[in-house]
Amino acid sequence: MRIAILGAGESGVGAAILGKKEGLDVFVSDSGEIQEEYKNVLSKFEIKWEEKQHSEKEILNADEIIKSPGIPEAAEIIKKIRSKGIAIISEIEFASRYSNAEIIGITGSNGKTTTALLTFHILKKAGLKVELAGNIGKSFARVVAEEDPEYCVLELSSFQLDDIDKMKCDIAVLLNITPDHLDRYDYKMENYIASKFRICKEQDEECLLIYNSDDENITNVLKKNKGAAKLIPFTIKGNNSEGAHIEKEEIIINIKNHKQLNMSIMELALQGKHNTYNSMAAGIVAKVLDIRKEKIREGLSDFQNAEHRLEFVAKVHGIEFVNDSKATNINSSWYALESIAKPIIWIVGGVDKGNDYDFMSEIVDKRVKGIICLGEDTAKIHAAFEGKVEEIVDVMSAQEAVRQSYRMGTKGDVVLLSPACASFDLFENYEDRGHQFKQAVRAL
Ligand code: ADP
Repeated sequence: MRIAILGAGESGVGAAILGKKEGLDVFVSDSGEIQEEYKNVLSKFEIKWEEKQHSEKEILNADEIIKSPGIPEAAEIIKKIRSKGIAIISEIEFASRYSNAEIIGITGSNGKTTTALLTFHILKKAGLKVELAGNIGKSFARVVAEEDPEYCVLELSSFQLDDIDKMKCDIAVLLNITPDHLDRYDYKMENYIASKFRICKEQDEECLLIYNSDDENITNVLKKNKGAAKLIPFTIKGNNSEGAHIEKEEIIINIKNHKQLNMSIMELALQGKHNTYNSMAAGIVAKVLDIRKEKIREGLSDFQNAEHRLEFVAKVHGIEFVNDSKATNINSSWYALESIAKPIIWIVGGVDKGNDYDFMSEIVDKRVKGIICLGEDTAKIHAAFEGKVEEIVDVMSAQEAVRQSYRMGTKGDVVLLSPACASFDLFENYEDRGHQFKQAVRAL
């Protein structure tokens, strides 16, 4: 069998290594330049590749095409492949064919990376043979090629879910569904919700769906069609007989045939309501995999989250600076404001993906003292909050944002970068935005 792989990034190169290992005839093609490191890997595995072009004669004779998620349907080469009727699949779908790992798929509008890292941390600490892949770190294909683990925690974005077909998640985690990326879904929320629910498409009665029962977008779908998997809910508002809930500041996890686990919220490494959800989801996964209570508690309390997610940067003259640059939509910024019970100077703005700032008005009334608008789209922020906070200023750089917020702040305040927007107007990406912010804080 001959496969052609379009795009030589982490997922394309991972798929190439796996294909080669499985004895397939593999050809890799990238219309741009391939990174040196990946060229070396391809050569090491004696995989044929090309860059800065797509040679049709090498591609259109393949039995199957593996396409990087970045290549749009409208691309010339994709149209030609479609017209010849050659199947196009994603790297994750391809990798799942060759994997025997128990797959723990994690999706949601917010919290995927945090929950995937946390789940991986607990499972690894407990001694399971587990790997982490998907949207973070290595590609799934590379993990399967190197050493198919017993368990694989997969972070799955909605785009990745759109591109899978037969892959089965033995355990699926659905954290929340709030508006994001609607431009990719014809601005229809129901399309976006359906995309998230693809995580349970192939599940059977042996599988588990761990879900947020406080999220109406999720529960409304489940009321109509509960799917095949066993359902395990988590809530911070109600009380589920099975699953996770809160009682007297403690998380309680109850799973049939397993001992109950309880843990004080204060001991969680990740604070804030949004993170309580994430901790519950990871805790349930660990519990159903029979990990000992002590190990789960330990993992939930000594975990260190990735950069740019409510990350404490420094305290300067009594003013705390927090970097939440990864907050690229309204919902994640709401949780950031909610989790900080001090007067906040909020740095917000960037490329607006259709934000409805009304959603923030109550929490801004409660918490926010001043606003710094960072970036180009500031009109909506002014319209929503003018007169509601002491001061709003516009800035066009992270350095200026830090200077202005420092001037506005007094001892006991928190300066929070939680932009609720994408970063592409002024920065390369959210990491660049976070780094520039941290650098400016450290220079104060
Ligand atoms: P994702 O991988 O889904 O983008 P991250 O874990 O990287 O999620 O977090 C993205 C942003 O969302 C951060 O600002 C973080 O503080 C916030 N966040 C994390 N978990 C949740 C949650 N369960 N609900 C809402 N916001 C969250």
